[in-house]
Amino acid sequence: MKKHWYDYLWIWSIVYFALGFFNILFAWLGMIDFLIPLGFAIFGGNKGFCNHFCGRGQLFAKLGGQLKCSRGRATPRFLTSRGFRYGFLVFFLIMFGNMVFQTYLVGAGAASFRETIKLFWTIRVPWGWTYTAGMVPNWIAQYSFGLYSLMLTSLLIGLIVMVFYKPRSWCAFCPMGTMTQGICRIRAKVTKSQRS
Ligand code: SF4
Repeated sequence: MKKHWYDYLWIWSIVYFALGFFNILFAWLGMIDFLIPLGFAIFGGNKGFCNHFCGRGQLFAKLGGQLKCSRGRATPRFLTSRGFRYGFLVFFLIMFGNMVFQTYLVGAGAASFRETIKLFWTIRVPWGWTYTAGMVPNWIAQYSFGLYSLMLTSLLIGLIVMVFYKPRSWCAFCPMGTMTQGICRIRAKVTKSQRS
């Protein structure tokens, strides 16, 4: 099958996480992975991002499928259930909101700036070598640490489920996938009701 440029976006995924080991400010590039799928869903009413442009999904397929790092067992039913998927989405959004709030507090001088990342929302890991104090306003750097924490945590969860189950099991409950699917459904309903 003919390969397209977007079939290689898994490389971007690796580059993104690698950059976070050198300069945490590159973490802001992760916003691309938030905004583009939303753009596809809101303006196009489709999941084009998931289907073609998601480097993370491709990375799981590559590692788990081609490189055989996955045991390939069926994804547990509860992970694909509506309740779990939307519950995880709500949890993720709350954590995202908390990260934005912490950024605000640091920017307002009400909380101290921390050069750490938080894995699995609990484990603090020193990450100060990736940032030189004063390069940018503290809130910009704090957001970088927060966003990178979120991105790395979700990658690790995805890799864990990839090892035990089908390579792209993460996609079954990925908050971005759930959110864009929900938006597409709402959009389709609105369009249908406008036509009738
Ligand atoms: S569900 Fe998530 S990880 Fe999977 S392709 Fe979509 S955005 Fe990427």
